[in-house]
Amino acid sequence: MPPQQAVARLIEGNKRFVARAGASGNGGGAPVAAAFPFAAIVACADSVAAPDLLFDQLPGSLFVLRSAGNGIDGGSLGGLEFAVELMTVSAIMVLGHTNCRIVESAAKAVSGNLALPDHLPALIASLAGLGRVYGQEAITANVVGQVEKLIRVLDRRIRVGELQVVGAVHDLASGEVTLL
Ligand SMILES: [Zn+2]
Repeated sequence: MPPQQAVARLIEGNKRFVARAGASGNGGGAPVAAAFPFAAIVACADSVAAPDLLFDQLPGSLFVLRSAGNGIDGGSLGGLEFAVELMTVSAIMVLGHTNCRIVESAAKAVSGNLALPDHLPALIASLAGLGRVYGQEAITANVVGQVEKLIRVLDRRIRVGELQVVGAVHDLASGEVTLL
């Protein structure tokens, strides 16, 4: 798709959204739940379904971070700390997905000790649990590694029962999300 056409498709989509939203501004005329998210989702940038749709939640109900391979780097970690400390989030789900080309490619690069150009090493550094794991096993290992990262940082909130951190995988074929 030519670049100008891609931008035009976004703007046309937003016009349809606004036309459906009416005065409420959130599409479909349902009440706005903005600024009171109850859960945070860390999803992959190339995942097919937006978490709001996947979990059938109103806009604003979820604090959504999307990154390549649902990796959590310093900035994302700060965002999640913000969501827990200053907002209303009491659960964080790290959500991997089947057939993730980013994690599968990263797993091959890590296992093969490949030198990568530009900012790809930073992407690899945001992932976890890789090294001699491939395919679905790498996808699961990365989710588990991200959950461990969060548990280390948010340990106090978890211990007093104010926060739960879970890992899950979204099956693109069935749509089903399975907790790990
Ligand atoms: Zn992915």
